[in-house]
Amino acid sequence: MTSVQPSTQSDPQSHKKAKALKPGSRRPAKELCSECGLCDTYYIHYVKEACAFLNQQIPQLEEQTHGRSRNLDNPDDWYFGVSQDMMAARKQAPIEGAQWTGIVSSIAIEMLNRGMVEGVICVQNTKEDRFQPMPVIATTPEEILAARVNKPTLSPNLSVLEQIEQSGLKRLLVIGVGCQIQALRAVEQELGLEKLYVLGTPCVDNVTREGLQKFLETTSRSPETVVHYEFMQDFRVHFKHEDGSTETVPFFGLKTNQLKDVFAPSCMSCFDYVNSLADLVVGYMGAPFGWQWIVVRNDRGQEMLNLVMDQLETQPVMSQGDRKNAVQQSIPAYDKGVTLPMWAAKLMGVVIERVGPKGLEYARFSIDSHFTRNYLYVKRNHPEKLADHVPPYARRIVAQYKLPE
Ligand code: FAD
Ligand code: SF4
Repeated sequence: MTSVQPSTQSDPQSHKKAKALKPGSRRPAKELCSECGLCDTYYIHYVKEACAFLNQQIPQLEEQTHGRSRNLDNPDDWYFGVSQDMMAARKQAPIEGAQWTGIVSSIAIEMLNRGMVEGVICVQNTKEDRFQPMPVIATTPEEILAARVNKPTLSPNLSVLEQIEQSGLKRLLVIGVGCQIQALRAVEQELGLEKLYVLGTPCVDNVTREGLQKFLETTSRSPETVVHYEFMQDFRVHFKHEDGSTETVPFFGLKTNQLKDVFAPSCMSCFDYVNSLADLVVGYMGAPFGWQWIVVRNDRGQEMLNLVMDQLETQPVMSQGDRKNAVQQSIPAYDKGVTLPMWAAKLMGVVIERVGPKGLEYARFSIDSHFTRNYLYVKRNHPEKLADHVPPYARRIVAQYKLPE
């Protein structure tokens, strides 16, 4: 399965005859399903080609989207994908309550205000639960702002796609993570749009709503009051609580043995951490502490970033340290579910923060750690998928390390 647009040749509207799956029913990707939302719409018609977990086709879709796929002779391309610019940035006036400084929400608001798009797919939360995702098509700045901050759970962002075709919207911005964007790119030509912009974030270690509860209860001193958390560049998880206080827990102190099964199987088998198919990616891991990291993949991405440049403070990306030993040592430790006592974890956190990888090297550390772990996961749990599912750039990354059997 490699073709991107197979079904259009016969009947361009044929997908409308397909039926969305009922909520809770088993998805075609079975346990690997990331609940991206595609199967909640009649675009399920294309699922065999479009699903990120049934048909990995990142190089072909990169070619379609950016005009070229990753250059396998360039290690920066292995890690960060196709790009034409990269920088560290932060908003001069951060948006209160955003995940970082609110660059994502600001770009979306500008695009709507200037008429570049008529609607924005983004994800708010339900009234009852701040972490329960509720995808929407926002058509006002207030609705975009209501979607700020991460919902750190699998989110069916594409479940609103049917409404796009029905509403007659022709210019659209989609905000989403890698697996959602892969499926979106595969059905892009079927959506009847004149213009599609894609604003992505990196994504890793996502969880179901129940998995999130277990993570919070195992890791935070007060799981009920957490409003926001992030695995930060200082090797600590930062929890923000309702009363504004911050709690930090060193990565090396996480109860790996209890948390091993928390991450969704989709995320344990994902090799698209950096959202290869978005026009513009806004994360944090390639930037110094407190800054966001921006990757411009193509001209559409540059057009989007230009809209907010006057609201940003920027600096060039930097890279410091050498991640390789730390990654190699963490592979067997994770594999065996080793958990350090808290005093040792704190000490290790302090040392590694001082001498450890920074900037782009920190991003490489995180990508290496996750790709080696995920490669082992796929090899052990879905060996039949290993050959087709792991993209060529990820193989090069993993091949730098010695893995246990
Ligand atoms: P805001 O202005 O607060 O806007 C956040 C946007 O994210 C909103 O528009 C909302 O629609 C969208 N969103 C929220 N939750 C989801 C979701 N579950 N699925 C799809 N879209 C969503 N960056 C890194 O550099 N390294 C990481 O390891 C990393 N892990 C992440 C894991 C998850 C699950 C998510 C959702 C994001 C992750 N990011 C990561 C991105 C980072 O945390 C910020 O989202 C990004 O830097 C944007 O911050 P902001 O303040 O500009 O966003
Ligand atoms: Fe369907 Fe998306 Fe799940 Fe794949 S990941 S089975 S496309 S809902």
